[in-house]
Amino acid sequence: MSASYVSKRQVVIGLEVHLQLNTTTKLFCSCPTDYIGKTPNSNVCPICLAVPGTLPLLNDGAVALGARMGLGLHCKIQNYSNFHRKNYFYADLAKAYQITQYELPIATGGYMDLEVGGAAKRVRVHHLHLEEDAGKLVHPTTDGRLTGAMYSLVDYNRGGVPLSEVVSEPDMSSPAEAREYVMRLRQLARYLDISDGEMESGSLRVDANISLSNADGSLGTRVEIKNMNSFKSLEQALEYETVRQNKALDSGGRIVQETRLWDNAEGVTRSMRNKETASDYRYYPEMDLAPIVITDEEIEDFKRGMPELPWEKRDRFARDFGLSKEEIAIITEQRELAQYYEDTVASGAPPARAANWVRMEVLRMLNERGGTISDFKVKPGVLADIVKKIEDGELSSTVGKDILELLVAEDMSLDDAIKRSGASGRRLTGDALDGIISGVLEANPDVADVIRSGQDRKGGKLKFLQGLVMKETRGQADPKEASEVLSRRLGL
Ligand code: ADP
Ligand code: MG
Ligand code: ZN
Repeated sequence: MSASYVSKRQVVIGLEVHLQLNTTTKLFCSCPTDYIGKTPNSNVCPICLAVPGTLPLLNDGAVALGARMGLGLHCKIQNYSNFHRKNYFYADLAKAYQITQYELPIATGGYMDLEVGGAAKRVRVHHLHLEEDAGKLVHPTTDGRLTGAMYSLVDYNRGGVPLSEVVSEPDMSSPAEAREYVMRLRQLARYLDISDGEMESGSLRVDANISLSNADGSLGTRVEIKNMNSFKSLEQALEYETVRQNKALDSGGRIVQETRLWDNAEGVTRSMRNKETASDYRYYPEMDLAPIVITDEEIEDFKRGMPELPWEKRDRFARDFGLSKEEIAIITEQRELAQYYEDTVASGAPPARAANWVRMEVLRMLNERGGTISDFKVKPGVLADIVKKIEDGELSSTVGKDILELLVAEDMSLDDAIKRSGASGRRLTGDALDGIISGVLEANPDVADVIRSGQDRKGGKLKFLQGLVMKETRGQADPKEASEVLSRRLGL
């Protein structure tokens, strides 16, 4: 956690997380969902533009994704659920109501288990419901602020894109927990192919509710914060709000229930509007849509179709590969990376060393160069070959890294990369090698003594010295000759 501020009062946070579902078409019409970068208002039809006389038709794919996410969150999937109209007047909504689930959502009563700062934490999920997204308003201003705009433009391309909203109980007690919860939700959504879950592009959006408990332990008045488009800003907005609410209460003030917007440039939240209550929306059942009926057999089918979930994978990696929690967390964050790692091990690389290479080198190169693991040029089989050669002392780690760089930068075979790296061909032998070995022995007299006195029964110390020789020669020593010379010099 970034801030050092310690709240006097217990912080209470509940989150509403919107995930844009990975369907190809919208929730109630057959317009495509890939609206990003399209000409404004080109991705629309009479249904999503709410032309009178049109009727919505429910997308089954969205229902299936909602049910899968619900199962991933350990919710009960409802056999019967339905839609309501949530009425409000705003230009981003052509119908003047949003079709959303309200009283009877598709999934209820689940949880997500977290680990934050070494402590286990369970956050209960109240429910998950389906709803349609709204369009987007564009305010053409020179300073980018709404107040400076002479007029606004509306783009309905996003209108009607399916969302699932996951509503938590107010169970989180710090900004760090809130961040971790959203990270695990995103990971689950990605494992299940439900959503890209990108806060930056808005396919994952968080409304964060935060209050401070009263002295008697009862819940205080909450504020809802919107407009955070990264994990960092989510945490910062909640930190800011914790301080602001504490100060207001300290000085004898009250917290008003309202919606506030996070201003990322200024690092503050600002009041946007008083919080609406349910009665403001005049919810009523959507009679143009049949209820969603999911049979027990269908629910069983969804369960059978679930892939290995992140926590199951973490447990299995701990059992099968003996990696540390931290290593596992990094490698299993993305399902594709975890698969890459597993394939590397399946190709014969020792698990611990393979984990190091995936975590340190592969991820570093992806970060530096961009791109995803799926189109990473060095395939698991090749990485496994490199790792095995390092394990066998044929290559030093340093040369292994050079080879990886070569393979990523140019199209060449592993053999060619090994030649180009100078690891073979120009082998260090004779006097040159002898000199380096002397240097290593002189720098490690204690180790050499242990070996000479016959106490290195498992050969670990000898291996250590061999490793140093390979390192000093950047892997260019002939391994066989190096080993012979070392043994002779150590009287073995
Ligand atoms: P609304 O219908 O006004 O959106 P809900 O009861 O559905 O209100 O709650 C919305 C979110 O606010 C939930 O995630 C819930 O956990 C959270 N929440 C409710 N009360 C509090 C509170 N006192 N402090 C923090 N979060 C809260
Ligand atoms: Mg709500
Ligand atoms: Zn449409």
